[in-house]
Amino acid sequence: MEKNITVIKGDGIGPEIVDEAIKVLDAVAKKYNHTFIYTDILMGGASIDVHGVPLTDEAIEIAKKSDAVLLGSIGGDTTTSPWYQLEPALRPEAGLLKMRKALNLFANLRPAYLYDELKGACPLKEEITQGGFDMMIMRELTGGLYFGKRETKEVNGELVAHDNLEYSESEIRRIAKRGFDIAMKRQKKVVSVDKANVLDSSRLWRKIVNEVAKDYPEVELEHMLVDNCAMQLVKNPQQFDVILTENMFGDILSDEASMITGSIGMLSSASLRDDQFGMYEPSHGSAPDIAGKNIANPIATILSAAMMLRYSFDMDKEASAVEKAIQKVLKDGYRTVDIMSDGQKEVSCSVMGNLIVERL
Ligand code: NAD
Repeated sequence: MEKNITVIKGDGIGPEIVDEAIKVLDAVAKKYNHTFIYTDILMGGASIDVHGVPLTDEAIEIAKKSDAVLLGSIGGDTTTSPWYQLEPALRPEAGLLKMRKALNLFANLRPAYLYDELKGACPLKEEITQGGFDMMIMRELTGGLYFGKRETKEVNGELVAHDNLEYSESEIRRIAKRGFDIAMKRQKKVVSVDKANVLDSSRLWRKIVNEVAKDYPEVELEHMLVDNCAMQLVKNPQQFDVILTENMFGDILSDEASMITGSIGMLSSASLRDDQFGMYEPSHGSAPDIAGKNIANPIATILSAAMMLRYSFDMDKEASAVEKAIQKVLKDGYRTVDIMSDGQKEVSCSVMGNLIVERL
Protein backbone atom coordinates (compact mmCIF):
# COMPACT_ATOMS: atom_id res chain seq x y z
CA MET A 1 0.00 0.00 0.00
CA GLU A 2 1.19 3.56 -0.68
CA LYS A 3 0.31 6.31 1.81
CA ASN A 4 1.08 10.02 1.95
CA ILE A 5 1.88 11.27 5.43
CA THR A 6 2.14 14.93 6.35
CA VAL A 7 4.81 15.32 9.01
CA ILE A 8 4.84 18.20 11.49
CA LYS A 9 7.90 17.90 13.67
CA GLY A 10 7.02 21.07 15.57
CA ASP A 11 8.98 22.57 18.45
CA GLY A 12 11.01 21.49 21.49
CA ILE A 13 11.45 17.69 21.55
CA GLY A 14 9.11 17.40 18.52
CA PRO A 15 11.84 16.82 15.89
CA GLU A 16 13.64 14.24 18.08
CA ILE A 17 10.57 12.11 18.84
CA VAL A 18 9.13 12.34 15.30
CA ASP A 19 12.45 11.16 13.82
CA GLU A 20 12.16 8.00 15.93
CA ALA A 21 8.55 7.42 14.85
CA ILE A 22 9.60 7.75 11.20
CA LYS A 23 12.42 5.26 11.81
CA VAL A 24 9.79 2.80 13.04
CA LEU A 25 7.38 3.55 10.17
CA ASP A 26 10.21 2.95 7.68
CA ALA A 27 10.89 -0.41 9.31
CA VAL A 28 7.16 -1.27 9.06
CA ALA A 29 7.16 -0.25 5.38
CA LYS A 30 10.15 -2.48 4.67
CA LYS A 31 8.83 -5.48 6.59
CA TYR A 32 5.26 -5.36 5.22
CA ASN A 33 6.03 -4.03 1.74
CA HIS A 34 4.36 -0.60 2.00
CA THR A 35 5.49 2.80 0.75
CA PHE A 36 5.15 5.80 3.04
CA ILE A 37 5.78 9.18 1.41
CA TYR A 38 6.49 11.95 3.93
CA THR A 39 5.94 15.66 3.35
CA ASP A 40 7.19 18.05 6.04
CA ILE A 41 5.25 21.19 6.91
CA LEU A 42 5.80 23.79 9.62
CA MET A 43 3.41 24.56 12.46
CA GLY A 44 3.70 26.34 15.81
CA GLY A 45 6.86 28.19 16.80
CA ALA A 46 8.86 26.76 13.89
CA SER A 47 6.34 28.31 11.47
CA ILE A 48 6.28 31.66 13.34
CA ASP A 49 10.07 31.88 12.98
CA VAL A 50 9.95 31.31 9.21
CA HIS A 51 6.57 32.72 8.10
CA GLY A 52 5.51 35.02 10.95
CA VAL A 53 2.33 32.96 11.53
CA PRO A 54 1.82 29.62 13.36
CA LEU A 55 0.27 27.92 10.31
CA THR A 56 0.07 28.95 6.66
CA ASP A 57 -2.78 28.17 4.25
CA GLU A 58 -0.26 26.34 2.02
CA ALA A 59 0.62 24.02 4.91
CA ILE A 60 -3.08 23.28 5.51
CA GLU A 61 -3.55 22.43 1.82
CA ILE A 62 -0.66 19.94 1.95
CA ALA A 63 -2.17 18.28 5.05
CA LYS A 64 -5.62 18.11 3.41
CA LYS A 65 -4.23 16.29 0.40
CA SER A 66 -2.46 13.62 2.47
CA ASP A 67 -3.80 10.40 4.02
CA ALA A 68 -2.86 11.32 7.60
CA VAL A 69 -0.85 13.78 9.68
CA LEU A 70 1.86 12.83 12.17
CA LEU A 71 2.59 15.59 14.67
CA GLY A 72 5.35 15.87 17.27
CA SER A 73 4.44 18.75 19.51
CA ILE A 74 4.30 22.51 19.32
CA GLY A 75 5.01 25.39 21.68
CA GLY A 76 7.86 26.67 23.80
CA ASP A 77 8.49 27.77 27.35
CA THR A 78 5.40 29.90 27.97
CA THR A 79 7.21 32.30 30.33
CA THR A 80 10.47 32.88 28.46
CA SER A 81 9.82 32.19 24.76
CA PRO A 82 9.27 35.30 22.58
CA TRP A 83 6.42 33.42 20.83
CA TYR A 84 4.30 34.16 23.92
CA GLN A 85 4.83 37.92 23.62
CA LEU A 86 2.70 37.76 20.45
CA GLU A 87 -1.07 38.26 20.47
CA PRO A 88 -2.95 34.96 21.18
CA ALA A 89 -3.99 34.44 17.53
CA LEU A 90 -0.32 34.40 16.48
CA ARG A 91 1.02 32.07 19.18
CA PRO A 92 2.06 28.44 18.49
CA GLU A 93 -1.14 26.83 19.87
CA ALA A 94 -3.29 28.90 17.47
CA GLY A 95 -1.70 26.88 14.65
CA LEU A 96 -2.91 23.61 16.16
CA LEU A 97 -6.46 24.88 16.71
CA LYS A 98 -6.56 26.22 13.13
CA MET A 99 -5.34 22.88 11.78
CA ARG A 100 -7.93 20.87 13.77
CA LYS A 101 -10.68 23.15 12.49
CA ALA A 102 -9.48 23.16 8.87
CA LEU A 103 -9.31 19.35 8.85
CA ASN A 104 -12.70 19.02 10.59
CA LEU A 105 -11.32 16.71 13.27
CA PHE A 106 -14.23 16.10 15.65
CA ALA A 107 -13.24 12.93 17.50
CA ASN A 108 -10.35 12.73 19.92
CA LEU A 109 -9.02 9.32 20.88
CA ARG A 110 -6.80 8.82 23.90
CA PRO A 111 -5.78 5.34 24.95
CA ALA A 112 -4.87 4.65 28.57
CA TYR A 113 -2.93 1.42 28.90
CA LEU A 114 -1.05 0.09 31.90
CA TYR A 115 2.15 -1.71 30.98
CA ASP A 116 3.04 -4.54 33.34
CA GLU A 117 6.63 -3.29 33.39
CA LEU A 118 5.59 0.25 34.44
CA LYS A 119 3.09 -0.68 37.15
CA GLY A 120 5.36 0.87 39.75
CA ALA A 121 4.60 4.34 38.32
CA CYS A 122 0.82 3.86 38.65
CA PRO A 123 -0.56 5.76 41.67
CA LEU A 124 -3.29 3.15 42.27
CA LYS A 125 -2.99 0.28 44.78
CA GLU A 126 -1.59 -2.99 43.44
CA GLU A 127 -4.81 -4.88 44.18
CA ILE A 128 -6.62 -2.51 41.76
CA THR A 129 -4.05 -2.69 38.96
CA GLN A 130 -3.63 -6.48 39.04
CA GLY A 131 -4.43 -7.65 35.53
CA GLY A 132 -3.72 -4.17 34.13
CA PHE A 133 -6.15 -2.02 32.14
CA ASP A 134 -6.53 -1.04 28.52
CA MET A 135 -9.11 1.60 27.63
CA MET A 136 -9.76 4.11 24.88
CA ILE A 137 -11.38 7.44 25.66
CA MET A 138 -13.29 8.89 22.75
CA ARG A 139 -14.07 12.55 23.31
CA GLU A 140 -16.23 14.78 21.08
CA LEU A 141 -13.97 17.68 20.12
CA THR A 142 -15.93 20.40 18.35
CA GLY A 143 -19.23 20.87 20.24
CA GLY A 144 -20.63 21.27 23.74
CA LEU A 145 -19.78 23.78 26.41
CA TYR A 146 -16.42 24.87 24.94
CA PHE A 147 -18.01 26.03 21.69
CA GLY A 148 -21.40 27.34 22.87
CA LYS A 149 -22.37 30.99 23.24
CA ARG A 150 -20.97 32.58 26.39
CA GLU A 151 -21.45 35.91 28.09
CA THR A 152 -20.70 37.81 31.27
CA LYS A 153 -23.08 40.67 32.04
CA GLU A 154 -24.23 42.79 34.94
CA VAL A 155 -27.63 41.90 36.39
CA ASN A 156 -29.05 43.76 39.40
CA GLY A 157 -25.65 45.22 40.27
CA GLU A 158 -23.63 41.98 40.12
CA LEU A 159 -21.82 40.09 37.40
CA VAL A 160 -23.54 37.01 35.98
CA ALA A 161 -21.86 34.64 33.51
CA HIS A 162 -23.28 31.86 31.37
CA ASP A 163 -21.90 29.24 28.96
CA ASN A 164 -24.18 27.37 26.61
CA LEU A 165 -23.95 23.56 26.24
CA GLU A 166 -25.48 22.54 22.93
CA TYR A 167 -25.35 19.32 20.90
CA SER A 168 -27.27 18.43 17.74
CA GLU A 169 -28.42 14.93 16.81
CA SER A 170 -25.98 14.81 13.89
CA GLU A 171 -23.01 15.83 16.07
CA ILE A 172 -23.84 13.06 18.56
CA ARG A 173 -24.53 10.48 15.87
CA ARG A 174 -21.21 10.93 14.05
CA ILE A 175 -19.09 10.60 17.22
CA ALA A 176 -21.19 7.67 18.48
CA LYS A 177 -20.67 5.82 15.20
CA ARG A 178 -16.95 6.43 15.45
CA GLY A 179 -16.97 5.11 19.04
CA PHE A 180 -18.79 1.91 18.07
CA ASP A 181 -16.48 1.41 15.05
CA ILE A 182 -13.47 1.64 17.35
CA ALA A 183 -15.08 -0.78 19.83
CA MET A 184 -15.51 -3.29 16.97
CA LYS A 185 -11.71 -3.24 16.58
CA ARG A 186 -11.25 -3.79 20.34
CA GLN A 187 -13.16 -5.64 23.08
CA LYS A 188 -16.62 -4.63 21.74
CA LYS A 189 -17.73 -2.75 24.83
CA VAL A 190 -18.83 0.90 24.96
CA VAL A 191 -19.50 2.88 28.12
CA SER A 192 -21.29 6.08 27.12
CA VAL A 193 -20.79 8.79 29.72
CA ASP A 194 -23.28 11.59 30.32
CA LYS A 195 -25.22 13.44 33.04
CA ALA A 196 -28.66 12.37 31.83
CA ASN A 197 -30.19 12.68 35.32
CA VAL A 198 -29.77 16.47 35.03
CA LEU A 199 -28.96 17.73 31.51
CA ASP A 200 -31.18 17.84 28.44
CA SER A 201 -28.10 17.65 26.20
CA SER A 202 -27.16 14.39 27.98
CA ARG A 203 -30.65 12.96 27.54
CA LEU A 204 -30.39 13.62 23.79
CA TRP A 205 -26.88 12.12 23.86
CA ARG A 206 -28.23 8.92 25.45
CA LYS A 207 -31.16 8.68 23.00
CA ILE A 208 -28.93 8.99 19.93
CA VAL A 209 -26.27 6.62 21.31
CA ASN A 210 -29.04 4.03 21.88
CA GLU A 211 -30.18 4.48 18.28
CA VAL A 212 -26.65 4.08 16.89
CA ALA A 213 -26.10 1.00 19.09
CA LYS A 214 -28.84 -0.84 17.16
CA ASP A 215 -26.49 -0.97 14.15
CA TYR A 216 -23.82 -2.67 16.28
CA PRO A 217 -25.51 -5.71 17.87
CA GLU A 218 -22.15 -7.26 18.75
CA VAL A 219 -21.16 -4.30 20.91
CA GLU A 220 -22.22 -4.23 24.56
CA LEU A 221 -23.40 -0.75 25.57
CA GLU A 222 -23.59 0.63 29.09
CA HIS A 223 -24.58 4.18 30.11
CA MET A 224 -22.75 5.72 33.05
CA LEU A 225 -23.15 9.07 34.79
CA VAL A 226 -20.00 11.18 34.62
CA ASP A 227 -19.56 11.44 38.41
CA ASN A 228 -19.74 7.66 38.72
CA CYS A 229 -17.31 7.24 35.80
CA ALA A 230 -14.76 9.49 37.55
CA MET A 231 -14.98 7.16 40.57
CA GLN A 232 -14.95 3.92 38.58
CA LEU A 233 -11.76 4.97 36.76
CA VAL A 234 -9.80 4.80 39.99
CA LYS A 235 -11.85 2.02 41.62
CA ASN A 236 -11.99 -0.51 38.79
CA PRO A 237 -10.32 0.74 35.58
CA GLN A 238 -10.27 -2.80 34.18
CA GLN A 239 -14.01 -2.66 33.41
CA PHE A 240 -13.53 -0.14 30.57
CA ASP A 241 -12.89 -0.75 26.89
CA VAL A 242 -14.21 2.31 24.95
CA ILE A 243 -15.45 5.33 26.91
CA LEU A 244 -17.58 7.52 24.65
CA THR A 245 -18.34 11.03 25.86
CA GLU A 246 -18.88 14.69 25.08
CA ASN A 247 -16.28 17.43 24.99
CA MET A 248 -15.91 18.67 28.59
CA PHE A 249 -16.51 15.31 30.31
CA GLY A 250 -13.93 13.80 27.93
CA ASP A 251 -11.42 16.54 28.63
CA ILE A 252 -11.54 15.82 32.35
CA LEU A 253 -11.85 12.01 32.23
CA SER A 254 -9.03 11.58 29.70
CA ASP A 255 -6.64 13.48 31.98
CA GLU A 256 -7.73 11.32 34.91
CA ALA A 257 -7.20 8.15 32.85
CA SER A 258 -3.76 9.29 31.69
CA MET A 259 -2.72 10.03 35.27
CA ILE A 260 -3.42 6.45 36.38
CA THR A 261 -1.08 5.04 33.70
CA GLY A 262 1.82 6.78 35.45
CA SER A 263 3.83 8.18 32.53
CA ILE A 264 3.16 11.05 30.17
CA GLY A 265 5.91 9.94 27.78
CA MET A 266 3.91 6.79 26.91
CA LEU A 267 0.54 8.30 25.96
CA SER A 268 -0.56 8.57 22.34
CA SER A 269 -3.58 10.32 20.83
CA ALA A 270 -5.49 10.73 17.60
CA SER A 271 -7.97 13.27 16.25
CA LEU A 272 -10.28 11.86 13.59
CA ARG A 273 -13.03 12.94 11.21
CA ASP A 274 -15.77 10.80 9.65
CA ASP A 275 -13.58 9.13 7.03
CA GLN A 276 -10.19 7.40 7.45
CA PHE A 277 -8.24 10.65 7.80
CA GLY A 278 -6.69 11.54 11.15
CA MET A 279 -4.01 13.55 12.92
CA TYR A 280 -1.80 11.60 15.34
CA GLU A 281 0.28 13.07 18.13
CA PRO A 282 1.58 12.27 21.62
CA SER A 283 -0.58 13.51 24.52
CA HIS A 284 2.35 15.41 26.02
CA GLY A 285 3.70 18.83 25.05
CA SER A 286 6.98 19.96 23.51
CA ALA A 287 8.96 19.61 26.78
CA PRO A 288 11.25 22.61 26.14
CA ASP A 289 13.13 21.80 29.38
CA ILE A 290 14.68 18.68 27.80
CA ALA A 291 14.69 19.67 24.10
CA GLY A 292 17.85 18.95 22.09
CA LYS A 293 19.30 16.58 24.72
CA ASN A 294 18.28 13.30 23.05
CA ILE A 295 16.68 12.11 26.32
CA ALA A 296 12.95 12.45 25.52
CA ASN A 297 10.79 9.35 25.49
CA PRO A 298 9.71 8.73 21.87
CA ILE A 299 7.24 5.93 22.74
CA ALA A 300 4.09 8.13 22.86
CA THR A 301 4.86 9.34 19.35
CA ILE A 302 5.67 5.85 18.08
CA LEU A 303 2.39 4.59 19.59
CA SER A 304 0.61 7.49 17.84
CA ALA A 305 2.15 6.30 14.57
CA ALA A 306 0.81 2.81 15.37
CA MET A 307 -2.66 4.34 15.82
CA MET A 308 -2.25 5.95 12.41
CA LEU A 309 -1.51 2.54 10.90
CA ARG A 310 -4.59 1.04 12.56
CA TYR A 311 -7.20 3.78 12.19
CA SER A 312 -6.21 5.65 9.01
CA PHE A 313 -4.55 2.89 6.97
CA ASP A 314 -6.41 -0.23 8.23
CA MET A 315 -3.05 -1.87 8.95
CA ASP A 316 -4.01 -3.75 12.10
CA LYS A 317 -1.25 -6.35 12.11
CA GLU A 318 1.40 -3.70 11.46
CA ALA A 319 0.06 -1.60 14.37
CA SER A 320 0.06 -4.62 16.68
CA ALA A 321 3.63 -5.46 15.64
CA VAL A 322 4.78 -1.96 16.68
CA GLU A 323 2.92 -2.21 20.00
CA LYS A 324 4.41 -5.64 20.69
CA ALA A 325 7.93 -4.40 19.84
CA ILE A 326 7.50 -1.61 22.42
CA GLN A 327 6.29 -4.10 25.01
CA LYS A 328 9.33 -6.29 24.30
CA VAL A 329 11.76 -3.39 24.73
CA LEU A 330 10.21 -2.58 28.10
CA LYS A 331 10.31 -6.25 29.10
CA ASP A 332 13.99 -6.34 28.17
CA GLY A 333 14.55 -3.59 30.74
CA TYR A 334 15.25 -0.55 28.55
CA ARG A 335 13.93 2.82 29.78
CA THR A 336 14.26 6.46 28.87
CA VAL A 337 14.98 8.71 31.85
CA ASP A 338 11.31 9.64 32.51
CA ILE A 339 10.33 5.98 33.15
CA MET A 340 13.65 4.86 34.65
CA SER A 341 13.62 2.72 37.80
CA ASP A 342 16.18 0.71 39.79
CA GLY A 343 17.78 -2.21 38.00
CA GLN A 344 16.75 -1.09 34.47
CA LYS A 345 18.96 0.15 31.62
CA GLU A 346 18.73 3.86 30.78
CA VAL A 347 18.83 4.70 27.06
CA SER A 348 18.56 7.85 24.94
CA CYS A 349 15.67 8.84 22.67
CA SER A 350 17.41 7.62 19.51
CA VAL A 351 18.59 4.34 21.08
CA MET A 352 15.01 3.66 22.23
CA GLY A 353 13.90 4.09 18.59
CA ASN A 354 16.63 1.69 17.40
CA LEU A 355 15.69 -0.93 20.01
CA ILE A 356 12.05 -0.85 18.91
CA VAL A 357 13.06 -1.19 15.25
CA GLU A 358 15.31 -4.17 16.11
CA ARG A 359 12.40 -5.96 17.78
CA LEU A 360 10.09 -5.35 14.84
P1 NAD B 1 4.95 19.08 28.60
O1 NAD B 1 4.08 17.88 28.38
O2 NAD B 1 5.71 19.55 27.43
O3 NAD B 1 6.01 18.76 29.78
C1 NAD B 1 5.63 18.44 31.11
C2 NAD B 1 6.77 17.64 31.77
O4 NAD B 1 6.81 16.33 31.20
C3 NAD B 1 8.15 18.25 31.53
O5 NAD B 1 8.93 18.06 32.66
C4 NAD B 1 8.72 17.46 30.38
O6 NAD B 1 10.13 17.38 30.37
C5 NAD B 1 8.08 16.08 30.60
N1 NAD B 1 7.86 15.37 29.34
C6 NAD B 1 6.88 15.62 28.42
N2 NAD B 1 7.00 14.79 27.39
C7 NAD B 1 8.05 14.00 27.64
C8 NAD B 1 8.68 12.93 26.93
N3 NAD B 1 8.25 12.50 25.73
N4 NAD B 1 9.76 12.34 27.48
C9 NAD B 1 10.22 12.72 28.69
N5 NAD B 1 9.66 13.72 29.41
C10 NAD B 1 8.59 14.36 28.89
O7 NAD B 1 4.01 20.21 29.20
P2 NAD B 1 4.33 21.76 29.48
O8 NAD B 1 5.72 21.91 30.00
O9 NAD B 1 3.19 22.24 30.26
O10 NAD B 1 4.25 22.47 28.05
C11 NAD B 1 5.37 22.76 27.25
C12 NAD B 1 4.89 23.34 25.92
O11 NAD B 1 4.15 22.33 25.22
C13 NAD B 1 3.95 24.53 26.07
O12 NAD B 1 4.26 25.48 25.10
C14 NAD B 1 2.57 23.94 25.83
O13 NAD B 1 1.67 24.89 25.33
C15 NAD B 1 2.91 22.91 24.78
N6 NAD B 1 1.92 21.83 24.62
C16 NAD B 1 1.68 21.42 23.34
C17 NAD B 1 0.79 20.37 23.13
C18 NAD B 1 0.55 19.94 21.71
O14 NAD B 1 1.36 20.23 20.83
N7 NAD B 1 -0.53 19.26 21.45
C19 NAD B 1 0.17 19.75 24.21
C20 NAD B 1 0.47 20.16 25.52
C21 NAD B 1 1.36 21.22 25.71
